[in-house]
Amino acid sequence: MNVALKRVHERESTLSDVVSKYPDVPRLIILKIDVQRRGVHYTRRALDGLDPAVHQLRSAIWCSRDGIYTDTNVPESLLLRDGTSIVVESVSTDKEPYLVDLVDGRPALIDGDEVIEFVEFWEKPRYYDLVTSSGIPMKDVISARPQRLSILLSTVCHFGKNSCLYCEIHNNNKTKGRPVRPKLRMEDVSEVVREALREEGRFCTFCITGGSILKGQEVFDREVDLYIELLQAIGEHFGSRKFPSQLVASAYSEKQLRRLYDTTGLMSYTCDLEVLDPEKFRWICPGKAEAVGGYEVWKQRVIRAVDIFGRGNVSSGIVGGVELATPYGFTTEEEALEATLAEAESLARHGVPAFFVVWVPRPNSPFRDQKSPSLDYYVRLTRGLERIKAAYGITTDFDDYRRCGNHPDTDLSRIR
Ligand code: SF4
Repeated sequence: MNVALKRVHERESTLSDVVSKYPDVPRLIILKIDVQRRGVHYTRRALDGLDPAVHQLRSAIWCSRDGIYTDTNVPESLLLRDGTSIVVESVSTDKEPYLVDLVDGRPALIDGDEVIEFVEFWEKPRYYDLVTSSGIPMKDVISARPQRLSILLSTVCHFGKNSCLYCEIHNNNKTKGRPVRPKLRMEDVSEVVREALREEGRFCTFCITGGSILKGQEVFDREVDLYIELLQAIGEHFGSRKFPSQLVASAYSEKQLRRLYDTTGLMSYTCDLEVLDPEKFRWICPGKAEAVGGYEVWKQRVIRAVDIFGRGNVSSGIVGGVELATPYGFTTEEEALEATLAEAESLARHGVPAFFVVWVPRPNSPFRDQKSPSLDYYVRLTRGLERIKAAYGITTDFDDYRRCGNHPDTDLSRIR
């Protein structure tokens, strides 16, 4: 069987086939993966069921998987009945997504004629209706997931033409006429944090990220400076030295990490290796590979961070499935899984868990015409990564189903 045919064949397993094959993985987690992989399409009836006074709608600032910026009349994302988040975007019907329709007046995921599961739309936080004293909608300063506040430091990445091949930040920034978020001002951040924290019981952490900033005496010095400023603005609202927080950022030197840890309330650090293979990293993430001397340096910097932030407070994210991109990715799912898990284990030996997001080819990225691997592959990746974390006794509490909700393998950690 040639490789192309084999991949098509592997993709043919249905949700129920995969659910039966892996009884140790909860059906709702497998469903979440499949919904993320295929995307959703909201019927008119489902959209009519949205209540903008209650539900969180998409922001015009972010491009959707349809390549559309302005369709803000769609839900931000979905929740399953066990509280599992599905961070997912709408796609056009020709991509064969799950439909979200109203069944007996309730939103439900539909595949073909089958009602798969009832879902809920995310509820909007109270601060989403407010505007900062400088006149910016608060939801454009800090976005929300059901239990966390997310802050994007910058909407540019200095890798430019050397951007990661699955990422669309560079092309998005070249798109004329798109809505642009005003530059982030620390006064605005502080004001929104104060307001968001007034909603008792809603938020349990902050996630801070942004594109890579290469400037500075040492590469990334400027990026570190800006994150310190941002973290200090948040820290003003806490009486404790540290506050629940995750920074997803570039691979810093020990000196930079120490500065970050000593001068802010930051509790955890994530540095994404994106694809767990040196050669594929060089191909898929050329900017990252060049910035600090390649995959091994990037990896060693993540590992060194454990000495500063402590075991259980450092991790590395991967774009699960991108290792199978053509033409230079792994040619079979077996080979990709084996290599990825072996490298994840090598990180775990040093106390660094790897976790993944489901790769969905973005419309504005160089990988736009590629396809994600099979559902079966993702379930095996989920089990494999979680088993490694369990075997090495590593927790990912700072990025789990409550705080982030985007990683199927950390969803699985809750039943460990
Ligand atoms: S580092 Fe890669 S994934 Fe991150 S913003 Fe830059 S190009 Fe995109």
